[in-house]
Amino acid sequence: MEKHIKTIGILTSGGDSPGMNAAIRAVTRTARFNNINVIGIQRGYQGLIDKEFLKFTSSSVSNTIQRGGTILKTARCKDFMTPKGRKIAHENMVEAGIDALIVIGGNGSLTGAQQFAREFDIPIIGLPGTIDNDLYGTDATIGYDSALNTIVECVDKIRDTANSHDRIFFIEVMGRDAGFLAQNSAIASGAEAAIIPESATDVDQLADFIERGKRKSKNSAIVLVSEAQKDGVGGAFYYAERVKKEYPQFDARVTILGHLQRGGTPSAYDRILASRMGYAAIEALLEGQRNIMIGIKNDEIVYVPISRAVKMNKPINQELITVLNVLSM
Ligand code: ATP
Repeated sequence: MEKHIKTIGILTSGGDSPGMNAAIRAVTRTARFNNINVIGIQRGYQGLIDKEFLKFTSSSVSNTIQRGGTILKTARCKDFMTPKGRKIAHENMVEAGIDALIVIGGNGSLTGAQQFAREFDIPIIGLPGTIDNDLYGTDATIGYDSALNTIVECVDKIRDTANSHDRIFFIEVMGRDAGFLAQNSAIASGAEAAIIPESATDVDQLADFIERGKRKSKNSAIVLVSEAQKDGVGGAFYYAERVKKEYPQFDARVTILGHLQRGGTPSAYDRILASRMGYAAIEALLEGQRNIMIGIKNDEIVYVPISRAVKMNKPINQELITVLNVLSM
């Protein structure tokens, strides 16, 4: 163990995801088990800058494992993107006696953690908390499984009306740069297609889908679509507009699932994943690890350098694309 670690700070940052509370609970209880003090930092990096600190005990995390969202609250914090903001954050940490940080969040949050660790000599352990599943080096992120289940439940309902009206429904899900939610919810809901960013440059995914639909003489369809890119290309409305112009024989409708994908109680899988990862975060600190993200590979906990987790692209398994294409006959 790095001898000087007597107190850790824990925060959640970026978008909330189901299972974050289970992770906070696991980190807190494992730290207390090892006589390490825990300070809960509210509202992510903003709370570090504004000194929103709470002393956490084991009972602070009682009755939280089943709750969605994050009891620590989360935020997107512009000030932390500046050297000045990070300097204030560091001064506040030192003043509060925080020797190490546990950051639960997505790609942006862990990029911020990496920057912070580079500038100041602080051990940081990241936990992948995002519904997008877009962090390299881990098979799953905390919240992804719950969001997937929520999406599938919604798509099942939309299918009833799609079938009754011979319509094409474009259902937009989160994941601007990663198609895991769209691809896997398409498979799990028996949808006809998924339009994902990973395949954006390979083919015209809309033309391909219409062509396959024609061959199969299908009149109604569900297509899962990842959010639009920052330049506005992609997303459910973009494709519905294209259908109106290029294939006017079809009646296209749009459903944006939006924030309801993030909410709700975490699945059993996410609770277990978050518990294992939270426990592993403290174990890693005790081993002297720093600046790593806890991941899971083939059901084994792994340590991934944060620099790799945020920089490398996590590819979609091509088999998933083939499976959807074959099964949507
Ligand atoms: P989600 O996957 O749910 O979107 P995220 O962690 O990727 O979550 P972001 O909004 O990208 O969410 O990032 C959260 C916060 O992390 C930002 O508001 C900012 O405070 C911090 N952050 C992101 N990128 C950087 C960076 N390059 N330098 C410093 N801080 C950063």
